[in-house]
Amino acid sequence: MDRAAKRQVSDDHYSLRCPTCGGSFADRPDRFLLTCPEPHAPALLRAQYRQKRFVAHPEQTGVFRFFDWLPIRRTLSGGAGSAVFQSTGLGPTLGLSNLFVIWNGWWPEKGGLMETCTFKELEAQAVCGRIGDGWQDSLVVSSAGNTARAFHQACTRHGVPALLVVPGHGLPLLWSTTPSQPHVRLAVLNGGADYADAIALGNGIARTSGYFPEGGALNAARRDGMGTVVLATVEKTGRVPRHYFQAVGSGTGAIAAWEANLRLAEDGRFGTEKMRLHLSQNAPFTPMVDAWEAATRDLAQVPGGRELAASIHAPVLSNRNPPYGIAGGLYDALSDTGGYMYRVTADEAKAAGRLFETTEGSDIDAAAQVAVASLKQAVALGRIGPHDLVALNITGGGQARLHRDKRPAALQPQATISMDDVRREGEAGALALLREALA
Ligand SMILES: [Zn+2]
Repeated sequence: MDRAAKRQVSDDHYSLRCPTCGGSFADRPDRFLLTCPEPHAPALLRAQYRQKRFVAHPEQTGVFRFFDWLPIRRTLSGGAGSAVFQSTGLGPTLGLSNLFVIWNGWWPEKGGLMETCTFKELEAQAVCGRIGDGWQDSLVVSSAGNTARAFHQACTRHGVPALLVVPGHGLPLLWSTTPSQPHVRLAVLNGGADYADAIALGNGIARTSGYFPEGGALNAARRDGMGTVVLATVEKTGRVPRHYFQAVGSGTGAIAAWEANLRLAEDGRFGTEKMRLHLSQNAPFTPMVDAWEAATRDLAQVPGGRELAASIHAPVLSNRNPPYGIAGGLYDALSDTGGYMYRVTADEAKAAGRLFETTEGSDIDAAAQVAVASLKQAVALGRIGPHDLVALNITGGGQARLHRDKRPAALQPQATISMDDVRREGEAGALALLREALA
């Protein structure tokens, strides 16, 4: 815990603006302001910063290098940020002279120091920085696995009480190099539960006393923490890239990249053009690709979505309720940037992972493999020029090396609830069981 190392940030350096009604609001002093107080359909509140110029603070670590553009109350030390480097292997192999890799994971020689091996570490740092002094209740975070791993690290290190809610299939993703502390607890939902079930249970417990919701995509700190991937890229390249590649489950990281792009365009020194989003999902579970190709904001419930979501190569991309159609969400981001979406099969993803490893020299996780495969598709389709500035977000990588170097420990749940309990007891009964298990 390093609360002593924090730097207080003036709490009027940001406000929260609603894209639907245009209202501008101060953050709540005791909680996160997650939704617009005005009565209208849900929208993603966007942070607006007093500082309009892009500034990096080299004396800070992790996402806090860019604290002017984070909706936080304090900076925290000891975190890692994205490492950005020009590709010398994959780019030339694909005929691209200006491919930059945004590396989020463990690769010390490249400056990659994320011990959770996922870019969720960026959002976890920023969300912890948004928590004010004196908040006693437990932060509730629902996750398919990677997000919980990142929040376990950040909350443990910074003394933030938290409850992480994860479906059983996500448990193998929960390991840590940071020894567990009693103030961070893990609840597992078994019996065929998926990410959407974990979100429902997490939302339920977050409404009870002693807890408060992290908010997922609704939390502007989560998005702006992830948006630092673009800030780190511009710090390296001096320009906003023309193309941005990422695999999406919820799409929150891609929304964040677009929002960072808008702020940089307002500054104007790094180009004013929109960075085209090239986003990908793992077939056969491709609800957002389907909706985008049908040119609709309405995300149709995919027939058999639960079964399809459970079957894919990259389970972290299995969100059944992503912030796609919501005002300020992924549909708007794709529309504003002239974006593309791609379907990637498991075989294509695995082949792309091997290509990255042989040309660049590190393993990458399944979601990042999907992104690399989409880059191959875009090149084949002639969508990017050979000298275009291209950013490839490797959202997770280096796990094999990290496990050799650091030998992380598996996390042990403090509570286990079954979907059978939820069906038998109803939501209220299941919550009572969960609170009992955690008492
Ligand atoms: Zn509003």
